[in-house]
Amino acid sequence: SGWRPLEFKSGGCGAGLVAAGAVRVLYPASRAGERTRVPGSPAPSSLPLHSPGACGTEVDMDPQRSPLLEVKGNIELKRPLIKAPSQLPLSGSRLKRRPDQMEDGLEPEKKRTRGLGATTKITTSHPRVPSLTTVPQTQGQTTAQKVSKKTGPRCSTAIATGLKNQKPVPAVPVQKSGRASGVDPIKKPSKRPAWDLKGQLCDLNAELKRCRERTQTLDQENQQLQDQLRDAQQQVKALGTERTTLEGHLAKVQAQAEQGQQELKNLRACVLELEERLSTQEGLVQELQKKQVELQEERRGLTSQLEEKERRLQTSEAALSSSQAEVASLRQETVAQAALLTEREERLHGLEMERRRLHNQLQELKGNIRVFCRVRPVLPGEPTPPPGLLLFPSGPGGPSDPPTRLSLSRSDERRGTLSGAPAPPTRHDFSFDRVFPPGSGQDEVFEEIAMLVQSALDGYPVCIFAYGQTGSGKTFTMEGGPGGDPQLEGLIPRALRHLFSVAQELSGQGWTYSFVASYVEIYNETVRDLLATGTRKGQGGECEIRRAGPGSEELTVTNARYVPVSCEKEVEALLHLARQNRAVARTAQNERSSRSHSVFQLQISGEHSSRGLQCGAPLSLVDLAGSERLDPGLALGPGERERLRETQAINSSLSTLGLVIMALSNKESHVPYRNSKLTYLLQNSLGGSAKMLMFVNISPLEENVSESLNSLRFASKVNQCVIGTAQANRK
Ligand code: ADP
Ligand code: MG
Repeated sequence: SGWRPLEFKSGGCGAGLVAAGAVRVLYPASRAGERTRVPGSPAPSSLPLHSPGACGTEVDMDPQRSPLLEVKGNIELKRPLIKAPSQLPLSGSRLKRRPDQMEDGLEPEKKRTRGLGATTKITTSHPRVPSLTTVPQTQGQTTAQKVSKKTGPRCSTAIATGLKNQKPVPAVPVQKSGRASGVDPIKKPSKRPAWDLKGQLCDLNAELKRCRERTQTLDQENQQLQDQLRDAQQQVKALGTERTTLEGHLAKVQAQAEQGQQELKNLRACVLELEERLSTQEGLVQELQKKQVELQEERRGLTSQLEEKERRLQTSEAALSSSQAEVASLRQETVAQAALLTEREERLHGLEMERRRLHNQLQELKGNIRVFCRVRPVLPGEPTPPPGLLLFPSGPGGPSDPPTRLSLSRSDERRGTLSGAPAPPTRHDFSFDRVFPPGSGQDEVFEEIAMLVQSALDGYPVCIFAYGQTGSGKTFTMEGGPGGDPQLEGLIPRALRHLFSVAQELSGQGWTYSFVASYVEIYNETVRDLLATGTRKGQGGECEIRRAGPGSEELTVTNARYVPVSCEKEVEALLHLARQNRAVARTAQNERSSRSHSVFQLQISGEHSSRGLQCGAPLSLVDLAGSERLDPGLALGPGERERLRETQAINSSLSTLGLVIMALSNKESHVPYRNSKLTYLLQNSLGGSAKMLMFVNISPLEENVSESLNSLRFASKVNQCVIGTAQANRK
């Protein structure tokens, strides 16, 4: 059935089993009670053991070791156990059987007991069986029963079966006819006549004699059988003992078998478990194999990535090394460049200083006091002046040269001719550093003074005046036209913007500049702050001009605001505030703005920290009060008196200005700065190294010719002045 036999060697199979025997266990077990014979094993030597617990188990033993087993085997084989020759009367037919017939009868027995050796002599036939044919049925039966009783039911059954298997013995008829004949059938006694009593008696005696002999024989035989029976009983007893022993063995074997089965069961369970584990492990193995494949794939990918990275790394390293070389060369270059830069800086600084020197020289050549004449255009609504009133003759270089000359023609009505005809107009020629005809724009004007303004950054004090009668365009020139039009911006915003931008450029060379602005007006010899705010706004509280400190040359206006500025927006705000303050004042006092000097001052401080250089100078932009004179023919009312006083103050201060310029020009020991607040305030911007520019503003109108002439004359005087050699305020 596919099961492998498990073989246990006898040595390890437990004690009590027959020596050198082998126990073979067959799986699966056959049906209970069925004897299974291993093919090829000798049949007679097998010992069938009927045991319900030992199903399918066959134990082979060496037959020669246990004769008792043979006997038992014979019993089991349903053979009658006859050790001694039986004296039992057998049927004649049995006796008559031929040796070959007997052999036939014995054949199966021989076959079954082949190999048993001595036991083969136990046969049912006996050669010395008397040839008695008449065996009493009862006696045979009794004997048989006795034997069966002693050998057990199985033995008796076997014997009975053996007897039954024998051919029918015709004993019954013999028995039946025994009494009838009672004579030797060979010697057929002749029938005695009834009267032959003697003969009959003789026959009977003979018969009796035969019976006695027979009885004697039977007694002997009986004795033998009893002996035989005793032997057999002894044998049975021995067999029983042996059986007990064998049963013990059997039990052990069964126990071993059970143990084996238990072990087998355990082993099966073990096998099942192992199989289960195996399947699990196989699954795991498959999974792992799959994973391995995946990992190998991944590894391949990673390997290729790694190779790619390595390639890139090599490329990068090559690039890095070349970059490093480049960096090294660049560093060297940088060092060289730095040295060069330092050298260039040095040179640049030298050049800058040279530029300043030359610039200053140029300004000096142009004159430390310069006068520009500006004629404003005729405003809408004003009468057109007669042609030829103001002429602007071109310079020696022709019309392309900027005009520097101006001719004013005035017809003097008081000078009449003898003929009564009007006197020809008197022509007054003036020459200035520059003349701006009515069409000149603000930018054109500023262009001329930009270089002068820049001198303030180099440390030269700069002062620019606007001189002229009221309405001639002084305020327009200084602050600009109305409406905030950028084209109409005046000199103050333009100058400051220019200074800021140049300071920005110079910061690249290590210069740092700071600017502080102030804006005051001087009216009737009183100083007021135009940048005042809050409660002082418009009131222009009293201010005093003082030295900044004991022994200091620097002047400061007390109660005035000094506002640091750094961009044009801030300057715009300041100018707006100044206009507001003037407007408030104008309502309080009639046209005061034209009756006062407006002084815008910018303190410039420059520093070159790395070289320890400092420079600083004030830039002053002054919008002078109207220079017109009061008509002496006018009646003096209360208002006119006040006006007269104003005018005298103005004239006094303007005269003082002229005198100061003259004194400076003549290098007089005493310069009358203190004669007016204006010159006192501006004293640091006028003398010595200062550069001065005066705009003389002229009205184009015919009605203002007289005032224009006065202004031109004043300006001409100033223009003739030369103030020393300007020196920069360097510390
Ligand atoms: P001042 O300050 O000398 O009294 P203003 O500057 O107030 O004179 O000028 C008087 C008027 O003339 C103003 O309305 C001004 O706009 C105008 N004006 C002056 N100069 C010019 C000019 N160059 N171009 C155009 N208008 C001017
Ligand atoms: Mg003005």
